[in-house]
Amino acid sequence: MRDLGALVSLNEHAGEQAAAVQSRVQAGEHLPLAGVPIVIKDNINVTGTRTTCGSRILANYVSPYTATAAQKLLDAGAVVVGKANMDEFAMGSSTENSASGPALNPWDRERVPGGSSGGSAVAVAAGITPVSLGSDTGGSVRQPAALCGVYGFKPTYGRVSRYGLVAYASSLDQIGPFARSAEDLTLLMNVLAGHDPRDATSLNVPADFTAGNADTLRGLRVGVVRESLSGNTPGVEATLKATLDALRGAGAVVGEVGLPALKYAIPTYYLIAMPEASSNLARFDGMVYGQRAPGSDVTQSMTLTRERGFGKEVQRRIMLGTYALSSGYYDAYYAQAMKVRRLIADEFTAAFGQYDVLVTPTSPFPAFRRGEKTSDPLAMYAADVDTVAVNLAGLPALSVPAGFEEVDGKRLPVGVQFIAPALGDERLIALAGSLE
Ligand code: GLN
Repeated sequence: MRDLGALVSLNEHAGEQAAAVQSRVQAGEHLPLAGVPIVIKDNINVTGTRTTCGSRILANYVSPYTATAAQKLLDAGAVVVGKANMDEFAMGSSTENSASGPALNPWDRERVPGGSSGGSAVAVAAGITPVSLGSDTGGSVRQPAALCGVYGFKPTYGRVSRYGLVAYASSLDQIGPFARSAEDLTLLMNVLAGHDPRDATSLNVPADFTAGNADTLRGLRVGVVRESLSGNTPGVEATLKATLDALRGAGAVVGEVGLPALKYAIPTYYLIAMPEASSNLARFDGMVYGQRAPGSDVTQSMTLTRERGFGKEVQRRIMLGTYALSSGYYDAYYAQAMKVRRLIADEFTAAFGQYDVLVTPTSPFPAFRRGEKTSDPLAMYAADVDTVAVNLAGLPALSVPAGFEEVDGKRLPVGVQFIAPALGDERLIALAGSLE
């Protein structure tokens, strides 16, 4: 499986850790994830393993501590077998922007697995591990899940601790699981969700994820988001339609709802994500973390470190983000984007007055060819058209593998996205369970 580029490092201590889990089980401990092998995205710290974030600048960085989400999995008996490939600092939609080389889509190796958590999606789709962790700032769990034919869940902002996740855009970032069934998502979320005093944005609400049954769908009010209905490939359209038919068949009430501010979702997202990234990535100056380039003085060393350490896309975003935050431009860009963010959140709230869940395609198209969008950043950004608004509003959303589209003789997976109001995480996973 190495040739799929899913993993960037293996955990050499996995064998010992599995043996330790076995002893705990033999001693009578009940571990909900006893011995479950798991792959974790390479921007989530696990003590003693490298955390490169897909970047040259952190090529030799070894985590001195473990992220809360990873620690909870370990405490529950999971064994971290490796770290997953990703777009550099989670910036991208194809896992082509990685210092370790691209990850390949197992359904067609000429195509991308999506991103930025492409390695985590491939690990589950190719059966390397049954479950994995990714991070979702604007779609990075849901979009690769859709393109690889697995489940990908982005929890409500604050539901899963971000402590130990290397920050990209802190007000949007959220760790989320990949799995092959709603039941596995349930098991994982029961372990992952919960309050963490080390993350100031962590929510203190109880978590009770249980598998759904057919009754979950009876009378459920499902709103199809009108703005997501154009620009989709025929296979995506057909898959969405088949899913809506299945929902109706199970007793759900399906209607259509308009969220006009969604047409601004992509520019709004990038005008918030890039400024936050430019600020978060300021810490990588060669002084504390990772690689340091030589220089005759500190400024020269920092400049060279960042010039050599960061890839092109990361540099582009730092520059654009700094520009949008600079005096004279702040009001026109960042402040304006914050206002539209509020508008988008308000439109979601209004839609949830009428509907229990909203539905859209996860991506307007199935997996695209490697190299197809690398020279056109705006085309790459547009791949997130259906996912970014959810992060702007802090909502939970789940991509469900729902069908296939045949392209050039290959069957490519297609996903459908369900969105719930804040804290409706449990409802989404139950819904997916009853659709299986
Ligand atoms: N593709 C989007 C971006 O590049 C989303 C990334 C993510 O969710 N981490 O910003």
